[in-house]
Amino acid sequence: MNTLLDVLKRAEKLLEKKAIENSKVSAEVLLSHLLEIKKNDLYLNYEKKISNEVIQEYNDLVAQRAKNEPIEYITQKTTFYDLELVISKDVLIPRQETEILVDFIIKDISKDNFENKVLFDICTGSGCIGLAIKNRLKNLKIYMSDISDKAINIAQKNALKNSLEVNFLQGDLLDPYINLKADYVVCNPPYISEEEFKLLDKDVKDFEPKEALVAKMSGLEFYIRLEKELKKYLNPKAKLFFEIGYNQKEDILKNIFTSDIWKNKRVIKDYSQNNRFFFVLATNRNDTF
Ligand code: GLN
Repeated sequence: MNTLLDVLKRAEKLLEKKAIENSKVSAEVLLSHLLEIKKNDLYLNYEKKISNEVIQEYNDLVAQRAKNEPIEYITQKTTFYDLELVISKDVLIPRQETEILVDFIIKDISKDNFENKVLFDICTGSGCIGLAIKNRLKNLKIYMSDISDKAINIAQKNALKNSLEVNFLQGDLLDPYINLKADYVVCNPPYISEEEFKLLDKDVKDFEPKEALVAKMSGLEFYIRLEKELKKYLNPKAKLFFEIGYNQKEDILKNIFTSDIWKNKRVIKDYSQNNRFFFVLATNRNDTF
């Protein structure tokens, strides 16, 4: 009978042969998922014998990874800003970078009085952003929306799983927010151009939902629409927080958010020093729209 270590080594070799990055970590994460133990505790069980049944199940998971399927889709889970989230191929895998956005928002607004204040999380996907904010700012009322009802379904599961009370809406961009106004808006829309999409890693291109990644007009479509359409959905002095493509700063600052109602424009970088987030304060001369 094979030991845990034998099985692990075999999987690692196979993944290495298929040129899967971090083959060792992949092999370990999948086995710890299957055995329901912590990855760091695997070594405590290295000598343990593994049944053929479990080996068969494990081999199936490893075969999926060998075809470049991301770990998060195989295990159907991930963590984001202290939350355990359910994931499916209907939603984008939350990125570590996006935690910078959440962190910035929480720090920026946490001292505000949230009485009657509302936050919209537009294009919520798995719900990672809105739920992470709700988890830290319990008094803030949050609406989360997505065009995909399958995504809303996942986001609802994640709210339930983390015992967070938020409101869900389904529809295209601002359509579902009829009669609602926001004091804060966060949006990580699709922002990759068709040309860039072709150059993405197989892990992303072949598995993640294309409609959550790609946008028309060189990836700028949603910023153009939000700049136009958001105005009537905002309370005075609303703050907007967006994730953007690494090459979109100039267009966003100089060609899109050009009206003088947009104040305090600011772009910050991600961990790789790419311009990745755009923040702006909405205002006009009498602070009403
Ligand atoms: N808001 C989700 C995230 O940040 C989904 C974004 C999207 O689908 N474009 O991961």
